[in-house]
Amino acid sequence: MTAPHDTYPHTENDAPKSNTSRFMTGIRRGFRRKCPNCGHGFAFGGYLKLRSECDVCSHPIGEYRCDDAPPYFTIFLVGHIVVPGALAMEQTMSPSMTLQLSVWLPTTVLLCLAFLPFIKGAVLGTQWAMRIKG
Ligand SMILES: [Zn+2]
Repeated sequence: MTAPHDTYPHTENDAPKSNTSRFMTGIRRGFRRKCPNCGHGFAFGGYLKLRSECDVCSHPIGEYRCDDAPPYFTIFLVGHIVVPGALAMEQTMSPSMTLQLSVWLPTTVLLCLAFLPFIKGAVLGTQWAMRIKG
């Protein structure tokens, strides 16, 4: 017997066709910060806080635990943007350390804050696709 939240896709078009499709669907819906199960309801109740359940399909979104994965992937991504940028700036202009820090520290913080909610959504979608809860 399936729980009500597992029966959401009302149409054949809503349901992923394969595991790969389910994986990509989960990432796409999560990256848009939507419920990975239906793609219509909001998954987030705030900046990073997950809703306990989807308003549209009642999928228990709050049961997924993203833990440290979103910050890890965010730092990984931002590091691959900031470090080459700082090195390129150093190689081409040789600015003072004060200028380097005044450019790259705020850039790092802003990029992390900008990417984190979307990456958390993608991690949520991945967990949904792989049926990882708790
Ligand atoms: Zn939903």
